[in-house]
Amino acid sequence: MDSHSRSSVIIIGAGVSGLSAAKVLAENGIEDMVILEASDRIGGRIRKENFGGVSVELGAGWIAGVGGKESNPVWELANQSGLRTCFSDYSNARYNIYDRSGKIFPSGLAADSYKKAVDSAIMKLRSLEANHVGEVIEPPCAPKTPIELAIDFILHDFEMAEVEPISTYVDFGEREFLVADERGYEYLLYKMAEDFLFTSEGKILDTRLKLNKIVREIQHSRNGVFVKTEDGCVFEANYVILSASIGVLQSDLISFRPPLPRWKTEAIENCDVMVYTKIFLKFPYKFWPSGPEKEFFIYAHERRGYYTFWQHMENAYPGSNVLVVTLTNGESKRVEAQSDEETLKEAMEVLRDMFGPNIPNATDILVPRWWNNRFQRGSYSNYPIISNNQVVHDIKAPVGRIFFTGEHTSERFNGYVHGGYLSGIDTSKSLLEVMREGKERESESKTFLLEPLLALTGSLTLTQTETVSNLHKCDIPTQLYLSGKLGIPEAIL
Ligand SMILES: Cc1cc2nc3c(=O)[nH]c(=O)nc-3n(C[C@H](O)[C@H](O)[C@H](O)COP(=O)(O)OP(=O)(O)OC[C@H]3O[C@@H](n4cnc5c(N)ncnc54)[C@H](O)[C@@H]3O)c2cc1C
Repeated sequence: MDSHSRSSVIIIGAGVSGLSAAKVLAENGIEDMVILEASDRIGGRIRKENFGGVSVELGAGWIAGVGGKESNPVWELANQSGLRTCFSDYSNARYNIYDRSGKIFPSGLAADSYKKAVDSAIMKLRSLEANHVGEVIEPPCAPKTPIELAIDFILHDFEMAEVEPISTYVDFGEREFLVADERGYEYLLYKMAEDFLFTSEGKILDTRLKLNKIVREIQHSRNGVFVKTEDGCVFEANYVILSASIGVLQSDLISFRPPLPRWKTEAIENCDVMVYTKIFLKFPYKFWPSGPEKEFFIYAHERRGYYTFWQHMENAYPGSNVLVVTLTNGESKRVEAQSDEETLKEAMEVLRDMFGPNIPNATDILVPRWWNNRFQRGSYSNYPIISNNQVVHDIKAPVGRIFFTGEHTSERFNGYVHGGYLSGIDTSKSLLEVMREGKERESESKTFLLEPLLALTGSLTLTQTETVSNLHKCDIPTQLYLSGKLGIPEAIL
């Protein structure tokens, strides 16, 4: 144990949820917090990198849910910060479906296939719902042809807005804007941090933010928490807000002493982790059709999800000559496990299928590895379509002094940046409520204790052990144990 410090709250993780949680605490006068972040930067799954002369978003790229009846808070933050964004029009993607010989499917056929796929997805959902309540409805036939498989992939692995109501689109609106700003999506987080952390010249210099602190153990009791990091430091606090992703919670990166209760671990196991990988390719010149209605295009292959969904970056960054292809789940894991050269070779074969043998080779490739990143273990949470709210409720519920936050704890907006942002706010509000109740109990107990003690002054002397055990019996709030003088008896931990 190299260091030992104590605070009101330790926040684990400096992604959007950890930072919005910290901001709410600061706004409510809780200044003595510590933010422990495993990596060497803030942002978590919001991450930009310079690639091919422009700034690309390896994680969240879009502000999804704009133009609806409610205002998306992340869209508001983006507007306040003057973040540059581009509207993404996906509606034409279905008319840009290439077969393996480079022919675009005729628009009538594409539209028909699309409609059939949407109908079949709705039927599948109904059959799942019926099975859930004990009825039997035959599920529709599984997609078979390359075009069916490609559309199925887009409907299921991207958005199901046409199939089932998704709160993001129902509440905030159906429009999506791609962040195309050299400062990156993460600029919103720096702006947020500026409000409550000490910053200078675009850098966070506040010592309460501790980077490269990988939490490995959380020891918790009714009296407080000890958080141990991989480098041997121990941090002590009254409460913890844990914002690590669902994938991290499913892994063994963080152990809990005592272990988390069964209802909690079961809920964590019941949430699926989606892996979503955007592969960026840089070319010496543009050989694909450009224009706004050509921004997204689809490759139909007999293997579902095989380099299916493509986007050119010309709308976001004209002249950048960058293409992006998105892979998910099994394909993401497969590609993460192989070398970037192999991935480049595969992607080039696919592009040559679509655009002919004479196109130039990519000069650079960027393959993010969200699945193999032990601080992420995937891209975002994906609750089973037919699941009751109990799972997300249990994932979110605090265990003693450990409060859980992050996109996976958002009932309405899991999987999105605004889900993370709102969950942080929500979690801190719940914690503040608990702290307030604790304070009230504390002052009541103090009065309750002090009155008889004052009456006895002079006639009775208690040893320290007796004092502690008596306090324990009286269920005095833990702040007294943690106040340093009494210390925490090992037996209570
Ligand atoms: C490829 C990809 C594409 C996406 N696209 C979009 C999109 O277009 N639009 C959208 O709205 N959303 C998108 N998302 C989802 C969005 O990025 C997330 O929902 C959101 O950023 C999650 O924020 P968070 O605070 O919950 O978690 P995170 O950002 O993961 O923050 C958690 C933090 O905890 C840290 N941490 C983990 N373990 C430890 C530990 N043991 N000790 C200390 N620190 C730890 C991590 O390093 C991380 O910084 C995408 C995500 C990915 C990966």
